[in-house]
Amino acid sequence: MSRAALDEAARFIPGGVNSPVRSFAAVGGDPVFFTRGAGATLYDADGRGYLDYVGSWGPAIVGHAHPEVLRVVRMAIDAGLGFGAPHPLETEMAHILCTRVASMEKVRLVSSGTEATMSALRLARAATGRDRILKFAGCYHGHADALLVQAGSGALTHGTPSSPGVPADTARHTEVAAYNDAEAVERVFAERGEQIAAVIVEPVAGNMGCILPVPGFLETLSACCDAHDSVLIFDEVMTGFRVAAGGAAEMFGVHPDLTVLGKVIGGGLPVGAFGGRAGLMERLAPAGPVYQAGTLSGNPVAMAAGIATLCLTGEDGFYAQLEHLAERLTSGLQERADACGVALETARAGGMFGLFFTDRGPVRNLADVEACRAQDYRVFFHAMLDAGIYFAPSPHESGFLSAAHCDADIDRTLDAAADALRAVRKAR
Ligand code: PLP
Repeated sequence: MSRAALDEAARFIPGGVNSPVRSFAAVGGDPVFFTRGAGATLYDADGRGYLDYVGSWGPAIVGHAHPEVLRVVRMAIDAGLGFGAPHPLETEMAHILCTRVASMEKVRLVSSGTEATMSALRLARAATGRDRILKFAGCYHGHADALLVQAGSGALTHGTPSSPGVPADTARHTEVAAYNDAEAVERVFAERGEQIAAVIVEPVAGNMGCILPVPGFLETLSACCDAHDSVLIFDEVMTGFRVAAGGAAEMFGVHPDLTVLGKVIGGGLPVGAFGGRAGLMERLAPAGPVYQAGTLSGNPVAMAAGIATLCLTGEDGFYAQLEHLAERLTSGLQERADACGVALETARAGGMFGLFFTDRGPVRNLADVEACRAQDYRVFFHAMLDAGIYFAPSPHESGFLSAAHCDADIDRTLDAAADALRAVRKAR
């Protein structure tokens, strides 16, 4: 079924998918076409169920098709799909975000994470009158030109585009350092801090597996930005409302000038946001001169889904339960890997986790990730898929838990993983 569906899709859609990570290019085989979700389970077109650890790449934090989210979305739909004029639900959403994210006094709502990071960058450049930005290898901030730049060889390099079509002249303004390398950041600032408009970082990296910041890393970014009047941007599109109620900023006690959000705040519909100090945000049109706009920004149906989802995440013990499940899952996988002699490193933050097949110790940056055994992950992924358990179809992605997962799901996953890890061992 999936092969036929993919062939048909590929007649009209490049590669048959509307976002490359949906393809199974990194693990081999054909992507599954899911047609329905309920709680922690996805169903393919043939009706087969899969326990889901992808969660729509993060948004599905309360599980799929949550009845309360669907109820308020239906109400919103009945009132019309959008008017291109201010709506009270936008204010309600903005109020929730500014209440929950400590450093956010004002926020602008957009339709995707890419749009939000791109706009935050423009605002930072306008506020500082500088062009240069610093990002980290392996951090993904959406596909805007200035951010689609990765490191070349060495810990630190001047930017080169990581996709054809990104003008070299744009990439030239983007510097790339290794994640968790505070010294490299200090070096860049010592040499040309007065040129840096912004540092943008995933405060927990989630797009090269899941990598936590080492103690002092985020603090160094904050200190360097403060000392040089540069703007610190936390890209919390993935970590916002995912690792803690107030995101990674709350978890690590480091607060940026601007925060970018997405995924969870749309509850499954397309929403992004960026916000921070009022003085910075008031530079945006129409309050100020920095242009930023969107026909569907703050769409009421998307606002309704997001608000309902955020309200559910505010229930007592919500994040403690996600952490409990993530702890059981990662430590259980670690034990089973040890038992059958497969080297595995795991990481977790709130409701997200990463698996790294490596015997080189803790994974701290992209170079460590690239040294992992991608083939082990491929074998593990397919064995789990065969057992009806859906992990991310790439070793470079994080896994996601939801409030719909339960201890019995973890037990089932660990039972299947014991066999999958033996298959990894055998395939070597
Ligand atoms: N920033 C981070 C940290 C992300 O993980 C993503 C998407 O995965 C983005 C930005 C881009 O968001 P979107 O895919 O909604 O454009």
